[in-house]
Order: sequence, then structure tokens, then C-alpha cells
Amino acid sequence: MGMYEINRGMGYTNKNGTKSVNVLTLEDLAVEILFARGKFPGNRFLLAALMEEVGELAQAMLQGKSEAEINAEAIQVACVALRIFEEQDATFADLKPEESLK
Ligand SMILES: [Mg+2]
Repeated sequence: MGMYEINRGMGYTNKNGTKSVNVLTLEDLAVEILFARGKFPGNRFLLAALMEEVGELAQAMLQGKSEAEINAEAIQVACVALRIFEEQDATFADLKPEESLK
């Protein structure tokens, strides 16, 4: 094996023993983002979608679902969070200062 030891659960460990993000996980995330953008191309209500996905992740964990099912929900949470990072949430584009919860 090259300079990285691959362990799906632990991520990559380089020759210095430093752990880094598992590239396979990032590939899964990229696939999920492309799928989500194809299905829901708009960027309105992404915060609401994120909360929905967090709820589904919590439900999967609390109900003792399989690791695959929990991972699928976790990737969906990360997907929506990254969409907010890259696209923002248009629902809040016109939010006036007096409407914020500060
Ligand atoms: Mg979900």
C-alpha cells in the first residue's frame, strides 16, 4: 500500500500517523450533492431541509438502525450543510435586520 493506510472507519492514516479525511467519504458526499442538486436544484429552504435530515439521522440512531442506514442519513446531513456552505439559503436572502433572531 502507498503512503496511506485505508480504514473506512478511521479515515486515512498517513506515514506520520496523522489522521485525515477519508477520500472515499468525500466521494460519497460529492455523489450525494450531485444527486440532491439534480432532484432539488433550488436553494430555498435548505435550512429547513438540514433540520429535517438531522431529525432523520437522530431517528435512525435512536431506533438502532443499521450502520449503513445511519451513514446514509449522516451523508445527507453533510450534503445539505455543504449546499448551504456553497449556495447559501435563498429563503434568508431578503431577511431584514429587524427580522433576525439576534
Ligand atoms: Mg435523510
